[in-house]
Amino acid sequence: MNKIEHIGIAVKNLDVSNKLFAKLLGKSHYKIEAVESEGVATSFFKVGDTKIELLEATHVNSSIAKFIEKKGEGVHHIAFAVDDIEHEIKRLKKEDFIILEGYPKKGADSKLVAFVHPKSSNNVLIELCQDIKT
Ligand code: ZN
Repeated sequence: MNKIEHIGIAVKNLDVSNKLFAKLLGKSHYKIEAVESEGVATSFFKVGDTKIELLEATHVNSSIAKFIEKKGEGVHHIAFAVDDIEHEIKRLKKEDFIILEGYPKKGADSKLVAFVHPKSSNNVLIELCQDIKT
């Protein structure tokens, strides 16, 4: 795995949190993107070489809605950049990590993404993301 690509934070209201994080970071988000298949709206802030991703649920069955219901707003996942997501998934499975079903698939920010189930990684949801080569 390479650098931390971004840190995902679950929020109740993207507009409110965009303003809060703009104040905190001293800069505005550079993009907003809905990921229909995940039921989320996201916004991204650049912080040096990495990013903050804010996630708001767009429907009640979204994993973000469930997360907020259980734990409230807060850090939701850590995303690592990988060069070859298929290779990395194979490697992690061999090490007994649980990869969530149905991945890799296209996520926000032109990435192919997959997730490591938090029960196999000390209750931290880990995202792998690979740039989609165009
Ligand atoms: Zn993410």
